[in-house]
Amino acid sequence: MRAAVFETAGQPLTIREIEAPVPQATDLIVRVKASGICGSDLHLSEVTDRSGGMAPLGEGAVMGHEFCGEVLEVGAEAKGDWRPGERVCALPYIACGGCLECLSGRGHRCREVVFGGLGRLHGAYAEYVRVGAAEALRLPDGVDYQTGALVEPLAVGLHAVKAAAIGPGDAVLVVGAGPIGLAVALWCRFFGARRVAVSDLLPGRLDKAAALGATDVIDASQEDVVGRFKQAAGSRPDLVFDCVGVPGSQQLAMDYAPTNGRIVVAGVCMQRDGILPVKAITKELSVRYVYMYDRQDFRFTLEMLDGGRIEPGAMITDVVGFDGFAAAFEALKHPSSQCKVLLEPERLLV
Ligand SMILES: [Zn+2]
Ligand SMILES: [Zn+2]
Repeated sequence: MRAAVFETAGQPLTIREIEAPVPQATDLIVRVKASGICGSDLHLSEVTDRSGGMAPLGEGAVMGHEFCGEVLEVGAEAKGDWRPGERVCALPYIACGGCLECLSGRGHRCREVVFGGLGRLHGAYAEYVRVGAAEALRLPDGVDYQTGALVEPLAVGLHAVKAAAIGPGDAVLVVGAGPIGLAVALWCRFFGARRVAVSDLLPGRLDKAAALGATDVIDASQEDVVGRFKQAAGSRPDLVFDCVGVPGSQQLAMDYAPTNGRIVVAGVCMQRDGILPVKAITKELSVRYVYMYDRQDFRFTLEMLDGGRIEPGAMITDVVGFDGFAAAFEALKHPSSQCKVLLEPERLLV
């Protein structure tokens, strides 16, 4: 099968033939219909040592953990009554399925979990991907394949917003208009925040924020973020989401927050970051860190998509085939107004 293969850090992915996956007894083989490029993959492809808390990718790894497709093969002992041809998306790992974490929908906490796209288990920058039947979810009729590839980043946003326990009176500031920031903005609106402002240093990325539910967009390269927020909402933000994840972004969130403010850190910073604790202490801030999602977050996201309750289509800014994929992946490493770029393995022309 064709796949986008990681060879070495800092080098573009190579599009080449590799061996197609074979189902284990409890797995499905999925024909990938759409697969999103994630910021964490861009970062991972540049990692050369463990100093950032992540192991470098091995040669031959195939990344890609935001995907959906069609069931091609069903393992002999796969649960869930799956049939070839069914439309499917999946949590991007295979876990034991029997431990307390797995049964609670948190397979990423399972002691036996293997994450797809990090090495041993190929991800979905490929024609086919192996998924656990226990991790698979049916894609409802109302969710097309491109939207199906957004379920994973939407679930990340949902998980972050659920952790924030948003109230109807809350005025929210989302720092960072990348896919996660936009997903967070969408869910804040969904859960009834009074005001949802999104700020970014790249004004080109802010266009999509309004389309996804932001009530205000703030160009942080030109405007005083707190000043603009106060003007719009009448106060500082009750809740600030750090959806950037670079050194300095947590401090920025603390600076923006008011006394007794809440901060949710959803951006994953993989470098040392210095903060000035006294700022957080004197404001008595509550800071919450979030990671990934539960199976329930996937299910809820699918249900809301199917019913047309959320419309995240504006997140998708480009769709490419294998021919354009390596270049699109490299291009995303540099600031641009691109948001979510999808690979459609069956797409012949770029
Ligand atoms: Zn991702
Ligand atoms: Zn388990």
